Amino acid sequence: MDVLKELEEFRKKDIPYTRVLGSMCTTPHPIAIRAHEMFIETNLGDPGIFRGTFELERKLVRLLGEILHNPNACGYVTSGGTEGNIQAIRAFRNLKGIDRPNVIVPKSAHFSFDKVGDLLGVEVRKAELDEEFKVDVSSVESMIDDRTVGIVGIAGTTELGQVDPIKELSKMAIDNDVFLHVDAAFGGLVIPFMDEPMDFDFKLRGVSSITVDPHKMGMATIPAGGLLFREEKFLKALEVRTPYITTKYQWTLTGTRPGTGVASAYAVLRHLGFEGMRKVVRRCLKLTEVVKEEMESLGFETVIEPVMNVVCFKTEHAYEIREELMRRRWVVSAIENPKAIRLVIMPHVTEDIVREFVSEVRDVMSKLSVEP
Ligand code: PLP
Repeated sequence: MDVLKELEEFRKKDIPYTRVLGSMCTTPHPIAIRAHEMFIETNLGDPGIFRGTFELERKLVRLLGEILHNPNACGYVTSGGTEGNIQAIRAFRNLKGIDRPNVIVPKSAHFSFDKVGDLLGVEVRKAELDEEFKVDVSSVESMIDDRTVGIVGIAGTTELGQVDPIKELSKMAIDNDVFLHVDAAFGGLVIPFMDEPMDFDFKLRGVSSITVDPHKMGMATIPAGGLLFREEKFLKALEVRTPYITTKYQWTLTGTRPGTGVASAYAVLRHLGFEGMRKVVRRCLKLTEVVKEEMESLGFETVIEPVMNVVCFKTEHAYEIREELMRRRWVVSAIENPKAIRLVIMPHVTEDIVREFVSEVRDVMSKLSVEP
């Protein structure tokens, strides 16, 4: 059998994005695909060879820095939010040099922080949430001690799309002389393009680093994550010597790494411009409202009023509903606390997809003979 035919058979088993309402990834923008193809053989693990690609990475970091209120930010394009979070905490740990260090994250933090604890030998303390599922600042404060190297706030939580009180966390970080990392893997390319953006980025003096992933709302090709630091000293704290390649030091977690994410992320942001990004975000937020109304008409209630294009609907039957939808090749997520189904309204979602999905949910409920 022709190998491409064989590949096609595997690819057919994948569920198309048109039936995915439970992922923070999306179909890449057409300009991202073009850019990706142009950079397909590049390796940023050896920037002395791929000089142009490396220069482009600096330009992208600068552009992301501009979006996040610090054009002088430094950083690099990671394999995703997981690497961004690991590396931020690794930099904090290395800079502070404290024995048996700890870091405080909200209970709502992405599971990548469990990897942080395991890999870095840093204790990960989990702070309580308030009734709106934002981190409770007094709980964070009560956990800070003289071994704390940093605290973490989330701008766009994975499950609910909630934004923590980053302003208060920033003040707390300054007052306690600890670093503050903001995990804006998702929200970092949503909030800046909203009509009334909340404060969450380098505008706040206490923010030391930000994870912001172009392969989520930036419509870049995978992998394209981003890690930005307020100043150079954080990157320096990650450096290891690289004797046999074209540069002397490397600060990334991975060695060989693609330039495709850099090119595709840069292409989308430049091609659409900030106004184009605003349109994309506005459309996703509007569709989120449509989904909310349609699901409410089936008797569902949201867990919180959607803050961004993530919306969760309370139901005791979240897992059964998800399984039945999956059997019908529709993808949503289920969350545990509170039990709910979670939808992410990414750029690939259209009004037609929403209507088709809601009618499928109605059918599922009747088949399972359950109420929300
Ligand atoms: N941080 C947040 C807030 C996320 O929502 C996610 C993934 O959804 C991550 C980090 C991890 O990102 P990745 O899967 O790109 O490693």
